[in-house]
Amino acid sequence: MASGKKSALSDQQAEALRALPSVEELIEAPDLAEAIGEYGRELVVDSARIVLERTRRGILAGKGGGGLANRAAGGAASAAAGGGAAADLTRQIADEAASVFLPSLKTLVNATGVVVHTNLGRSVLAPEAIEAVVRTAASYSNLEYNLEAGARGSRHDHINRIIMALTGAEGALVVNNNAAAVFLALAVFGSGHEVVVSRGELVEIGGSFRIPDIMASSAARMVEVGTTNKTKISDYEKAIGADTTMLLHVHTSNYKVVGFTAEVGIAELARLGHERGLVVVDDLGSGVLAEMPALAEEPSVHDSLAAGADVVTFSGDKLLGGPQAGIIVGRKEYIEKMKAHPLARALRVDKMTLAALQATLALYLKPELALEKIPTLRMLSEPLEAIKERAEFMAAELRSALSASEVANMSLNEELENNVRAAWIGDAMAIEVQRATSKVGGGALPLLELDSYVCSIRPAAITVDELATRLRETDPPVIGRIHKERLLLDARTVLPEQLRDIASAFTQALQSMPTSPSATD
Ligand SMILES: *Cc1c(COP(=O)(O)O)cnc(C)c1O
Repeated sequence: MASGKKSALSDQQAEALRALPSVEELIEAPDLAEAIGEYGRELVVDSARIVLERTRRGILAGKGGGGLANRAAGGAASAAAGGGAAADLTRQIADEAASVFLPSLKTLVNATGVVVHTNLGRSVLAPEAIEAVVRTAASYSNLEYNLEAGARGSRHDHINRIIMALTGAEGALVVNNNAAAVFLALAVFGSGHEVVVSRGELVEIGGSFRIPDIMASSAARMVEVGTTNKTKISDYEKAIGADTTMLLHVHTSNYKVVGFTAEVGIAELARLGHERGLVVVDDLGSGVLAEMPALAEEPSVHDSLAAGADVVTFSGDKLLGGPQAGIIVGRKEYIEKMKAHPLARALRVDKMTLAALQATLALYLKPELALEKIPTLRMLSEPLEAIKERAEFMAAELRSALSASEVANMSLNEELENNVRAAWIGDAMAIEVQRATSKVGGGALPLLELDSYVCSIRPAAITVDELATRLRETDPPVIGRIHKERLLLDARTVLPEQLRDIASAFTQALQSMPTSPSATD
């Protein structure tokens, strides 16, 4: 048995696969009658397929699928044990069906160090914005009602003035997100005409948003000028024709062209555009309203308008730190044209977004208040010492979770007769506080590294990938980053109120220890 371990395992795998019941067999199991009564037969059948497929994949990957493969293999050898495996499957199926009705959006701990993490929901709202959302959601409001006139009003009126006050723009409009803002600008000013853009600015943002594609879908004809690394004002001059209506400038937010480069600034582009009677649109991506050292290199909305851009677009939930939204500012006549376009209705924001955005923007009236209250800005401007303190607190919590679970696992150990567990605990894991760097994220400042502190965990008897996987399965999940066989939990992006969640997640992760020796091979 010890000599032919590999082939013995695949025999075991084959056996485990053969031992799996069919969907039909499972569905007839008395254990599932209740689930069928509660969730309907169709969903339970669907769940059975998912669970069987997951188990099959687990067996093939040599994992137990939570120990099930081994039990299923045991089940093949004896009918009684097979009953145990089937019960395990039906429980998983019932859980799978139940999960459809549980909240799918789970709050989690972002310990990646990426402040504006698009996969993790970008910005966390300020308490004032959260309060505004709750208040607005719970009641009727004057969303499209003019209280003075007792007549229909416009939803845009709730937010225009504050955006104009903060940016110095003549007009403002808010849509679903910045992609929608760029799309609307192209549809209004470029559709059926030519829009000139530099080859160095044909960006892709997160897969589906690509400047050439968005141009095509807005029915604007894209005229590319210059090269990847160099575009001059003369390139634009030569490209402008009788059918050109718009010049588009895109902030290359998520990458940098370095070395032998030249680009045309928005001031120069605006001068040319206005000479030729064209609309000059600047897609800033993030768009910065706050003045702080970490963001000094990001173009500010104010500067773009001052440089002469007619229309400027930016996101509400990137460096602004508000809800998902696309903010459009610029010359009044252009903003009015955009508001009047049928697409504006299709791309409009709802009342909760308006409430959250208004409350977030209100904090910007006092810059020090914005830095303190808006989590995105607070994380970006937090002094290194404070981050270090949080990392140290985190490490202390994790160490005590580790020693507490050591005791717990020792007693479990006997019960499960599992000596793998003892070996694993014996080696424990190294938990240290280390200096590291975090990122802004959100497609902003790709080269900027922010000094930070991480809690570094080096597990001894399981792989670092396995530790990361387990921490994703805890409640709440904790997402870190892996670097050189260590799991790094970056203190910069961990919310203060989540510090204890990390310790509890860690305890949970330690409890779901390997029950099969194969996991530690
Ligand atoms: C992020 C970004 C967008 C898209 O903004 P969303 O708010 O994600 O829709 C568009 N243009 C640029 C330059 C960006 O950085």
